[in-house]
Order: sequence, then C-alpha cells, then structure tokens
Amino acid sequence: MKCDNCNSDKTYIKDYKHNFNKRGKNIEFVSPRKFCLRCNSLVYDAKLDNEASQKAIDIYNKLYGISKENIVKLRNEYNLSQELFSKIIGCAKKL
Ligand SMILES: [Zn+2]
Repeated sequence: MKCDNCNSDKTYIKDYKHNFNKRGKNIEFVSPRKFCLRCNSLVYDAKLDNEASQKAIDIYNKLYGISKENIVKLRNEYNLSQELFSKIIGCAKKL
C-alpha cells in the first residue's frame, strides 16, 4: 500500500495513540498503525486498521455499551425475541 500523500511505498509500523470522539464519548487507546517513512502520514493497512476499529468498538461497548453477557441476560430477563432485541440494542452495538 502506497502513501496517499507522497506516493512512497516505504512504510513502517508503530504504536499510535488513537483518540476517538463518538457521540460525545471519548475513547483513547494505543494500537499499531502503518506510517509513511518519508512524510509520516498514516498509511492504510487493512489488517491493522481493522484491529484498531475492533479495539475501538470493544472499548466503546465496555465503557458505554452493553457487553455480550449482559445482552444475553437482558434478553432472557425480558423474554424478548432475538429480532426485537437486536432492534433495541442496535444503536448500542454500532459506533
Ligand atoms: Zn508519504
């Protein structure tokens, strides 16, 4: 993958401190990302970028959302159908 900024294909990977603001909630975490050796721009890397978004989603759900265990518990408690329940919590699962 080439750098969008300067077209160089020389890249390196380093830990990057992410800072997301989703719906007014702040998420901060460190995850490795790919950078351009020449201009230091962030370079897209499917695997690393996916890992970073997964991390963000996990953290978001842990801090502000509903955990998997709680989802099952709640669903059983209120005897909701899978379909109805996924509608209710749909927004909590997405970033
Ligand atoms: Zn570059």
